Amino acid sequence: MAEIASIETVPVELPTRREHKWTGLTEPIGRYVLVHAISDEGVEGWGEAPALKDWGGEFGRYFGESPAITDVVIANYLAPAVAGMEVGNIAEAHARMDAVIKGYPYAKAAVELALFDVAARTLGVPVHMLLGGRVRDRIPVTHSIGLLDFAEAERECVRVVAEGIRTIKIKVGVDPERDVEMVRRIREAVGPEINLCVDANEGYRTPGTAVQIIRRMEPYGLIYVEQPVEGIERTAEVARAIDAPVMLDESAWNAHDVLRIIETQAADIVSLYTTKPGGLLKAMETAAVCRAAGIVCNVNGSVETGVGNLANLQLAAAAPAAELSCVVPVSTPAEARGDRIAGIYYRDDFLAEPMQLVDGAIRLPDGPGMGIDVDPEKVAAYRLDTGGG
Ligand SMILES: [Mg+2]
Repeated sequence: MAEIASIETVPVELPTRREHKWTGLTEPIGRYVLVHAISDEGVEGWGEAPALKDWGGEFGRYFGESPAITDVVIANYLAPAVAGMEVGNIAEAHARMDAVIKGYPYAKAAVELALFDVAARTLGVPVHMLLGGRVRDRIPVTHSIGLLDFAEAERECVRVVAEGIRTIKIKVGVDPERDVEMVRRIREAVGPEINLCVDANEGYRTPGTAVQIIRRMEPYGLIYVEQPVEGIERTAEVARAIDAPVMLDESAWNAHDVLRIIETQAADIVSLYTTKPGGLLKAMETAAVCRAAGIVCNVNGSVETGVGNLANLQLAAAAPAAELSCVVPVSTPAEARGDRIAGIYYRDDFLAEPMQLVDGAIRLPDGPGMGIDVDPEKVAAYRLDTGGG
């Protein structure tokens, strides 16, 4: 059996289409770390750590990972730990990575995604076949508008709906009056048929405050309210007092967190990532625990570049619990973009071909590995000299 011959990190930065912000974010999206793995047979695979230093779990439970931290953790610990191991033995890769250093799920996910890509390309199959197959081959896209001003938010929502988007995520958690007014204006702009959800990114100070604000938003129709406050137990208080379903994201990193969410009845919905639990295998485990409890999921992330976003699609295709529209970019290289903006956060991307958005959903790419080839020229063009901040 083939072996993993080399693993390298490539710090990169993609140019953004517009500034994309949420409550708590202190740095630009798109300055991330790619992982390039090669087997002794010359099969290549790619992974990504969309590491953000200000993105962590509740009450300091999981730390932020910056590109520089990710780079050091992979180069010093994870790459040596998995070098020489058998291609396709992902379970052993996790055991080795978890044994050599605690935590750092984003760094571990980046390595694991590259290993999955190598394994699937070695076999000539898509990654989802290694996850149990696909339960869906179109992934509905939720377009996230970030913290924009009213006029720009309304303009962008109208445009993406015209491009086929059926679900819009509104970033809130800033100021009650602004947040309620934003939901009201967007509902008015897009009409009654479009699904709206809000994500406060833990921005409301107390459960009581969150309940007051959300009750004022509920008349405009919300399919869910995401992470209104910090903490599972505090979110449970909110969930008991409002009508809209609650989604947890910052409080839901892995299968263990989901067990606590089930015990406390804090949420009906969990936001699955490939990165928070430390890779696809553990994301499938998290999804399975959700499914056992009747919790439904979407797939979300940190506005990954195409490399990490391909893995998001593989997860969304393979996890039965991932029934909801996903907050995944429509990763599109500059040459293929035209003037479209639906699901597009970057002005260029690393993929050799664009993802296809049809009727508001991405068609699951059917190529081997992660489904679309990475363009090495684009990687070279956006490579940073250092590990970044
Ligand atoms: Mg979120």
